[in-house]
Amino acid sequence: MVERFEKEFEERFGGGCAPLAVGSGTDALHLAYLLAGIQAGDEVIAPVFTCTATNIPFLYMGATIRFADVEKGTLNIDVDHVKRLITPRTKAIVCVHYGGLPCNMDELHALAHEHGLIIIEDAAHALGATYKGKKIGEISHFTMYSFQAIKHVTTADGGMLLIKDRDLLEKAKRLRWFGIDRSAKQKGIWENDITEIGYKYQMNDMAAAMGIAGLEEFNDTLALRRRLLARYFDNLKDLDGVKCVGEGYTDREHAAWMMTIIAERRIELQAHLRANGIESGQVHYRNDRYSIFGGRQQGAFPNMDKLEDSYLVLPLHTKMNETHVDRICDVMKKGW
Ligand SMILES: *Cc1c(COP(=O)(O)O)cnc(C)c1O
Repeated sequence: MVERFEKEFEERFGGGCAPLAVGSGTDALHLAYLLAGIQAGDEVIAPVFTCTATNIPFLYMGATIRFADVEKGTLNIDVDHVKRLITPRTKAIVCVHYGGLPCNMDELHALAHEHGLIIIEDAAHALGATYKGKKIGEISHFTMYSFQAIKHVTTADGGMLLIKDRDLLEKAKRLRWFGIDRSAKQKGIWENDITEIGYKYQMNDMAAAMGIAGLEEFNDTLALRRRLLARYFDNLKDLDGVKCVGEGYTDREHAAWMMTIIAERRIELQAHLRANGIESGQVHYRNDRYSIFGGRQQGAFPNMDKLEDSYLVLPLHTKMNETHVDRICDVMKKGW
């Protein structure tokens, strides 16, 4: 089942990259960082605003994280800031397609090319997204997907890594399973040594079966999510005090995982929505607020500083239809 899921996923999203199914998106990121050759003391450039799962695996490895600020209109990584963070010790850049809108991949790849860096895409929000006609998944050295409970496709928990350099696949498989070459072992050759420290990061058949079923529904799921997002953008475009994050791009297709706004008096808006039976929230927080990442770097991220008290994530999920979006927007239009 795992091999079948990998194969079906590769056909849909792989764009020539090799798939490796794992136990979670975080497992996939950790393996990508290991396969990228990141070592203790290396510097990596990573988004300050993301799920902590993007950045915690760097701490497992003793890598030094240099956080980059967000772009104001998208909350994606700010390429100008990335440029200023590059040093001779920089090894890799990880980017997150926030909410499902792809980052500025051409600009990031130009920097990577100039400085010999590896790019890892955290595409946990971006299954089905495209950038300038290319699939997210076929662009960078490594792309990671998550099948955690609330992602586009779920396997209860699970992840997928797409690997551009197919020669790395055998090593990736060994690292997924304690460092053991399972295919050699299954052929009964017991003299195999273990020479690399691996992990227990495999996907199981039950999860893969869910994933296969999820892929069957995926086109409908994505189409519905995109309709809901477009409806929000349309309904909210003239509303004072609100800006929609990631609106207006024509060179990339949104995967519509999250609908985020920048709102004046966010707390009051959240209370107003809640009083009308509508949940909203933050989902992710700036990572420099956490002690494990060294704590707040005041002033280092001017855009994040400006936006951290005003972003709000509105409901967007597959149990909704356009009427629900209209109702939410009507409640907002009454003022808060
Ligand atoms: C969900 C998510 C992850 C982690 O995936 P898991 O499958 O939960 O390990 C990583 N990055 C981002 C941006 C996510 O939203």
